[in-house]
Amino acid sequence: ITSKLPNNTTTIFTTMSLMAAKYNAINLSQGFPNFNCDPKLLVLVSKAMEEGHNQYAPMPGDILLRERISQKIETLHGAFYNPETQITITAGATQAIFTAIAATIHKGDEVILFTPAYDCYAPSVTLFGGKVVPVQLQPPSYSPDWMTVRNSVSEKTKMIIINSPHNPSGMLFSENDMLQLQEIAEKNNLLVLSDEVYEHIIFEDATHQSAARFSALAKRTFITASFGKTFHATGWKMGYCAAPENLMAEFRKVHQYNVFSVNNPIQKALATYLKDASHYNGLGAFYQQKRDYLIALLKGSRFKLQPSKGTYFQLLDYTEITQEADVSFAERLTKEYGVATIPTSVFNTENKDFKQLRVCFAKTEETLEKAAEILKSI
Ligand code: PMP
Ligand code: GLN
Repeated sequence: ITSKLPNNTTTIFTTMSLMAAKYNAINLSQGFPNFNCDPKLLVLVSKAMEEGHNQYAPMPGDILLRERISQKIETLHGAFYNPETQITITAGATQAIFTAIAATIHKGDEVILFTPAYDCYAPSVTLFGGKVVPVQLQPPSYSPDWMTVRNSVSEKTKMIIINSPHNPSGMLFSENDMLQLQEIAEKNNLLVLSDEVYEHIIFEDATHQSAARFSALAKRTFITASFGKTFHATGWKMGYCAAPENLMAEFRKVHQYNVFSVNNPIQKALATYLKDASHYNGLGAFYQQKRDYLIALLKGSRFKLQPSKGTYFQLLDYTEITQEADVSFAERLTKEYGVATIPTSVFNTENKDFKQLRVCFAKTEETLEKAAEILKSI
């Protein structure tokens, strides 16, 4: 058959996790915690199953869960999203992103995204006939250059995709970044997809600049979020999309034929669990401690780093160690040293000279200690 994605192969996350298993390496590559979620949440899931919530959820999701999400957004960002018409529960953020793109991108539309970019954006755009227009983020800050964005907008531009906190760099969009984006989106009548999966993993008391906080921007934005990141349960594949009513109506037209609805008992459990804000409000401090622990352990190593400002990822610059390309260095680190990481050049980046590897620090202290000991020896 003629491939619809001729330039894609198996994702780097699958590739590196398989390689880690094959060589029995410590897996700091694919982003997921190696500790369990809150036992209280597990009890709520089994209770929901025992109570018989094992049939289809409503197409847009459990209404109590949507109400709790609406309350959370209002409390944190001062914006009201109607749970009936503006919030849909999805199979992870991945399905929310795919659905938002499927519902809006026509053949020939251009979509601006910032590279390095999380791997699922570009193929989703390509599948629906859109053209990806990359705007490169430059180290060490990885902050967006809005003049380049302005110059990248054409008559065909339909959407801008943003991701803050940013995977893989840990960069955060500032309030000013969001205002610049708002101005460009309004002036050019663009849609925005704001991938906010790491919304609660922010360090040094910074504020998450959700698109929901900027009313003119929010009117044209799909916000996507992931319970997997927030509740240490990436394997549940649960997330949601929040968007204005006109956009959400189109989103649901696709969602209903894509999955129809998602895991009912987990939605019931999450609705109860979300009553308590303490878990997600404490998540930044929880992961900051892990970030700081890893940084302290790596002191004196030949890897250089700028502390991540958000997400559970840290980039490591290896220019002092070798000039080899990041894909081959990451392979060698896995096979010869027993630590698996993610080479950043595979995030659709234009700059193939990046000498940066991404490590995930959502790991127990013991794992971080073992990994850091090896990395220090290189
Ligand atoms: N966006 C970004 C930036 C991510 O890092 C991830 C997960 N790695 C996702 C989306 C997908 O989230 P989910 O696992 O909920 O589908
Ligand atoms: N989001 C995770 C990461 O960036 C991976 C998820 C996946 O494997 N698709 O590592």
